[in-house]
Amino acid sequence: MDKISKSKIREIQGLLNKLGYYNYSIDGFIENYTIDAIKKFQKNNNLKITGELDKLTYSKIEEFLMGYVSHTIERGDTLYDITRKYNTSIWRIIIANPNINPFDLTIGNSIIVPLNNQIVPTNIPYTYSVMENNISGLSKRYPFLRFDSIGNSVDGRQIYRIRIGNGNNHVIYNGAHHANEWITTSLLMKFIEVFSEVYSRKGSIRGYNIEQIWNYATIDIVPMVNPDGVELVIDGLDNINTNKEQLIKWNFGSENFNNWKSNINGVDLNRNYDAGWRKYKELETGFGITGPGPFLYGGTKPESEPESLAMAKLTKSIDSRLVLAYHTQGQVIFWNYKNLQPEISLYIGETFTKISGYEMGSEDLSQSLAGYKDWYILDFRKPGYTIEVGKGKNPLPIEQFDMIYENNEEILLLASII
Ligand SMILES: [Zn+2]
Repeated sequence: MDKISKSKIREIQGLLNKLGYYNYSIDGFIENYTIDAIKKFQKNNNLKITGELDKLTYSKIEEFLMGYVSHTIERGDTLYDITRKYNTSIWRIIIANPNINPFDLTIGNSIIVPLNNQIVPTNIPYTYSVMENNISGLSKRYPFLRFDSIGNSVDGRQIYRIRIGNGNNHVIYNGAHHANEWITTSLLMKFIEVFSEVYSRKGSIRGYNIEQIWNYATIDIVPMVNPDGVELVIDGLDNINTNKEQLIKWNFGSENFNNWKSNINGVDLNRNYDAGWRKYKELETGFGITGPGPFLYGGTKPESEPESLAMAKLTKSIDSRLVLAYHTQGQVIFWNYKNLQPEISLYIGETFTKISGYEMGSEDLSQSLAGYKDWYILDFRKPGYTIEVGKGKNPLPIEQFDMIYENNEEILLLASII
């Protein structure tokens, strides 16, 4: 077995925690409690009880992390047998395999068997690779989900867009423009998982009929606009190939990137849109910014960065009703730009504050320049919002996740139909 990264161990601890085997610190270190949890996992999955991440154990854990296994139909197999073998539910198999006939399984065909666990982890820092696995696992479980990449980051990562719904009312949600605000990616990915599961069984959330939303709206979600930056904040330089030495210099000599918001060209993506960008550049030096760095550097021209450019292109390609840009922190909703927003922006914003418990923000000019929602309001004169979730110092601890989800779930539903 190759050496397992600290991030991967955290992922495994997070899974063991969600499965009920582990109740201690999710710290990326294997010590006695983690070993005990691995033993329990092995026992319940008919594996040799070694307490080690041996090959078979590791691949079983991977199945849970991905959320499904693929099963080849054998002679005599019934759906009921398969359900029992993998300890899952029949409805999950039917949803994941819309074309199978449960009464006439074809021997030799392989089917997707979703396991019964929730896929999107809400107890660990949400890395790019976790997101990739989640997108692939969710789209296997819920084949009606569509996803693609709207561009590549500076360091060659995909900027994923997931689309839910099939209606004419288009809206766009995005998260993690800012690297150390990755908890907004967890929020959007969890929403996709909950929404898809409830849609697949024709249920409702908070009184919202999900099938009706699906037919009325199309929601384009870009959960991680700045994947390189998120990698940098969570795992440091380990997985970064571009600008390695400069990044340390730009970070004032430190290899701790907790305060990093920019992409890995040192450009603040939310100061890189074409809305008062020139004006912003005049203010920049006043903030003490002279070039690439962890935050507030607006770049050499609007949309100079592949990430902001991809986001702008996507937005231009869709006739959208509104956009939500998720950030942390402050529990505040920003809704205006130079009073160019339509009248209804205030009403919708106030509705969001009522259902979230957040407050309406009042921005001074320097706060509201060259950001995504500023540009959206300027170019399209439609409602655009920056929602600052959670409270404290970025990166917010994952312990705030449940509260953040609770505050925002209804906004995410309502914004698609209001
Ligand atoms: Zn932000």
